[in-house]
This record gives sequence, structure tokens and C-alpha cells, in this order.
Amino acid sequence: MISIDEALRRVLLQVPDSRTEVVELQFSEGRVLAEDVVSDLDIPPFHRSAMDGFAVRSKDVRQVPVKLECVGEVPAGSISPIELKPGQVVSIMTGAPVPAGADSVVRVEDTSRENGGKTVRFEVSVPEGMNIEPQGRITKVGHVVLPAGTCMVPAAVGVAAMVGRSQVRVFARPRVAFVSTGDELVEIDRVPEPGQIRNSNRYTIESMARCAGAEVVWSRLLPDDLEVTRATLREAIGHIDVLLFSGGVSMGEYDFVHRAMHAENVEMQFEKVAVKPGKPLSFGRAGTTMVFGLPGNPVSSFITFLLFVGPTLRKMSGRKDIPLVTVRARLESEKPLRGSNRVQYLPARLESTGEEGWVVHPLPWAGSADLCRLVDVDGFLEVPIQEESIESGCSVRVIVSKHLIGGGLDA
Ligand code: AMP
Ligand code: MG
Repeated sequence: MISIDEALRRVLLQVPDSRTEVVELQFSEGRVLAEDVVSDLDIPPFHRSAMDGFAVRSKDVRQVPVKLECVGEVPAGSISPIELKPGQVVSIMTGAPVPAGADSVVRVEDTSRENGGKTVRFEVSVPEGMNIEPQGRITKVGHVVLPAGTCMVPAAVGVAAMVGRSQVRVFARPRVAFVSTGDELVEIDRVPEPGQIRNSNRYTIESMARCAGAEVVWSRLLPDDLEVTRATLREAIGHIDVLLFSGGVSMGEYDFVHRAMHAENVEMQFEKVAVKPGKPLSFGRAGTTMVFGLPGNPVSSFITFLLFVGPTLRKMSGRKDIPLVTVRARLESEKPLRGSNRVQYLPARLESTGEEGWVVHPLPWAGSADLCRLVDVDGFLEVPIQEESIESGCSVRVIVSKHLIGGGLDA
């Protein structure tokens, strides 16, 4: 049995170099850039008015009030042929290029028109450059606006659009295959016969895989059978980036996943981890395919996915947020929490107390089959190994998981 940190270290070491692909910009959200995006223009591309008002020579409005001659108009999207002479101004709209000779813009609110609009009275003076966004202020042609490794958040999608990129090269989504094993399992559209249960892990784990940026390429439901398990491994190795088994990894007579992994020459990195729930987690690599044996219990597979598979998929997707986010919080619990010889994770709610930081409440649950309890957790409270007992008021570490699995933190 190895520690969680050592297990994660071994897993991340085995992640092969990521593939890349070109995608349409509108489908790039959440992907990670595998190239630098460079600006094809200065932005703004010209000296641009930041206000509706009048383009002026700032010298002409040094003494106010003053009346000046309006010699034309520049709407956004057009270029004025006018070159301002002393005493002249031009009416200008937000986003329009500032005409030659003008060096600042006075807001329309600080002016009034007279003489049928031909004369403009200025009530305020402005310094040179006022209300003008100079050409190239935001970026210049040839500059990297989005370096490789940037996550395509909505603002990044917009920046790529500004510089004319309708396609971008991103890291490919990891290809995942999911295999449930268990003679007791039936598809979810069936009513289980006595002794059977529905194959719910398929849906939980595939959903988590997609939340972590993966594409689920295929999935199977296998009986507890060595030969069938071996054949499935052969089908996946070399074609799939991450193969996930669920169930069949314990010490039972009918647990064939480890035996199949050994028989198909998967280079095993570990077969037990000091985590509760989730001890029978196993991991190995065959060629470019990473193979995980997740425990069958719904909560055990959930936690081991969160701790090990999620970081793997995020690393493969080129993301930087590989480690889990943790916070320290003050425990509030009716009963003291007892340690064991494995690190325990308990479903928990976080509460923000403002000045005093986070408070964490462990949630009552019915053990490692109680998936219902996980629907609205904020994260998992960590009980370190061999801890005698943790009382209310102690500071503990909490893995924050909600943002990884589709929800915002509403504490
Ligand atoms: P195993 O790891 O195969 O010993 O399974 C442990 C427990 O998890 C058993 O109670 C199984 O019935 C349950 N289980 C295994 N696979 C699944 C699955 N795909 N969906 C839901 N429960 C499962
Ligand atoms: Mg089983």
C-alpha cells in the first residue's frame, strides 16, 4: 500500500505527451492552446475616440468657455478626410478614428451647439490625448496575445477573435474508455432481478471524465471473466489514452481486473493506495495507454477518480490546474473524527464566515455506497493517517471539488 502523494506522483509521471488538433474558435471553450496566438494588427488599429463628442486641438480649448467652428462629422466605421486647422473641431462618435490635426476629444456633455450646429461652445478644457485610445495601446502587430498553455476561457476566445483567428490549435481531448465489471450489473433501463444492481458507475464516471475535459470513446459492461477482461484490454491498448475499469479490483474470487492487467503486460505502478474509501485502486501503463482499476463502490470510484484520474486528464488536456484545490477550515462536528491507517475523505459542506475564513461541516452519510450524499457536497474533508481524533474547532484540510464536477461553490 503506498501513500496518496506517491501514487499521484507515479500516475502523473506516466502521462505521455499530449496530442494536438485544430478546432474552430467557437468550439474552443475550455480547451488549452497548444500554440501562441499572435496579433495580426495593432489594437486599436488607429487612434480611436473613446467618447461621443468633438475632436479638437487641445490648444484651442485651453481658455474656456470658447466657441469653435464645427467642420464635419466622423461616425464609427468611417475615416474623415478633414485635417483640423486652428479653431476647427469635428463631431466624432465613440470608436471612430480621430481625424488628422486633432489631439483630444471633448465629451458631448461638456459642449453645446449654437448657430444651427455650425458653432460649438466648449465649457471645459482637456489635456492633450484626452478621450483618445492611441493606436496599438492594447497590443501591437506581431505580439503574442495568448501564449501556448492559455485556457480558452471566454475572454481568451474573444481575444483570438480580435486578432482574426477563426481556428486555433489546442491539446486534444484525452480519449477515455470505460469498462464496468460485475456479474451483478445490469444496464440502467432494466429493472434489476434479485441480486442485481444497475450499472450506475458508468454514468457517474463518464460524466466526471467529460467534466475533466475528456471524450468518452466507448464503454462496456463485462461479466466477471478473465478472458473477456483481457480481450477488452487488448482492444484498448494503443487506441485509448485512459482506460478506466470499475469493480473487480479487490481480493475476491471473482475480481479479475488485476489478473487481466498482469496477463496483458500492463506495467503496474501500484495496486493499493492508503486512501479511505478507495484502497483497491490500481494503476499501470501499457504503451501510451494508462489503465486505472477503480474500486466498484460508487463513492470509492468517485473519490479515486477525483484524486487520480481527474489530474491525469487535466494534465493530458494541457491544463495547469492539475492539483486539487484545497482550503484550511475549522471543523464543526458533533462527534470527534477518528483516524485510521489510511487518509480518509468525508463528504463535507463549506461555509464562509467572512473574517474567520472557512468552517467545514462533515455530512452524515451511509458509507461508500452512498452516492446520494455526494450530489450537493462542496468537497471532502481530510482526516490524516493515524490521527487519534479530530475535535470540533481543529483546523483541517478540505479538498474543494464542486467546481470540478459542474457546480459553483455556494457556501
Ligand atoms: P467490486 O469492486 O467489484 O468488489 O464492487 C464493490 C461494490 O460496488 C459492489 O457492491 C458492487 O455491486 C458495486 N459496484 C460495482 N460496480 C458497480 C457499478 N458499475 N455501478 C454501481 N455499483 C457497482
Ligand atoms: Mg465485482
